[in-house]
Amino acid sequence: ATPMALLVGTGRGARAGLLIKGPEVLETSRTLDTVLLDKTGTLTTGVMTVRDVVAADGVDRDELLSRAGSVEHSFTHPVARAISAAASGRVDAHCIKDVSGLGVTGMVDGTTVLVGRPALLEQQSVAVPHQLVDELRRLENDGATAVLVAWEGSARGVIAVADTVRPTSADAVRRLRSLGLHPVLLTGDNAGAAARVAAEVGIEQVIAGVLPEDKVTAVRELQEQGHAVAMVGDGVNDAPALAQADLGIAMGGGTDAAIEAGDITVASSDPLAVADAIRLSRSTLRVIK
Ligand code: ADP
Ligand code: MG
Repeated sequence: ATPMALLVGTGRGARAGLLIKGPEVLETSRTLDTVLLDKTGTLTTGVMTVRDVVAADGVDRDELLSRAGSVEHSFTHPVARAISAAASGRVDAHCIKDVSGLGVTGMVDGTTVLVGRPALLEQQSVAVPHQLVDELRRLENDGATAVLVAWEGSARGVIAVADTVRPTSADAVRRLRSLGLHPVLLTGDNAGAAARVAAEVGIEQVIAGVLPEDKVTAVRELQEQGHAVAMVGDGVNDAPALAQADLGIAMGGGTDAAIEAGDITVASSDPLAVADAIRLSRSTLRVIK
C-alpha cells in the first residue's frame, strides 16, 4: 500500500469528523457483513427523562425519588442522571457502589438503598411485591427502561425512564444495510425498551438484557460463526466489545473507555457518520489498490 493514499483517506476522514487510529483499520472495512449497535447513547441521545414513578402501598412517592436520587447523584449513567434530575430533597449517601451493569447501591439515612434492574435485587436477596412485578412488566412492555428501588429487604417502587432516538438513526440503519451490513441492536436494557427503539430505527434483530461482559461474548459468537463484525458504542460497558470487534466505532460524545477501545471515533456522535466511516474506509482502500 502506498502511504500517500492512506494519508488521503485519513485526511478525508478528519474532514468528516472521523478519527481513524491507523491504516490497518481500513483493511477490515471491506469484509464486514454485520454491525452491532448499542442502544443508549448510540442510537438514542443518551439523555433520559423520568416518565413514571410507581410507589408501593404505604410508600411516599417523593421519598422514593429522593432516596433513589441520593444514591444516583454521583453517577453519569443516563439512568442515574434522569433519576437525580427528577429527585428533590437529596440527602447524603455513603458507601456508594456501582454494581456493574445492574444498578447502584448506597446508604441513605442508615439503610441500604438499591436502584437497578430486577437481577440486582435477586442478587442481594431482596423481595419484590407482586404489585411491583406487574408494574415493572407493564412499563417495560410499554418501551420504558424501568428500575426498581428497594430498602430494608423489599422493593419500594419502580421508576421508569425513557430515552429519545437520534433523528438520523433510522437513516443511518438504512445506509448501513445498503453497504451490505446486517444491523443488530445490542443492549443491556430490557427487551421492551429495546424493541421500541429497534422498531423506530428499522432493526429486526435484537439482543437485549445483556450484562456488560456479555456484550463481548455476543461479538465473539458472531465471529465464530464466520461473520466480520463492526461494533458501534459509547459506554464503559461497550469498551470490551469495541476492542473485540473487527472494527470498533466509538461515539465521540461517549466515555473515554469506549474511545480508547475503538478503531474509529465519530466526533459528531451522529449515526450517519458511522455509515460514512465504513463507506470512506472502503473507498480509500480502492484508491490504494
Ligand atoms: P446499555 O447497553 O443500553 O448501554 P447498560 O448496560 O449501561 O445499558 O445498562 C443496562 C441496564 O442496567 C439499564 O437499562 C438499567 O436497567 C440498569 N442500570 C445501569 N446503570 C444503572 C444505574 N446507575 N441506576 C439504575 N439502573 C442502572
Ligand atoms: Mg450506550
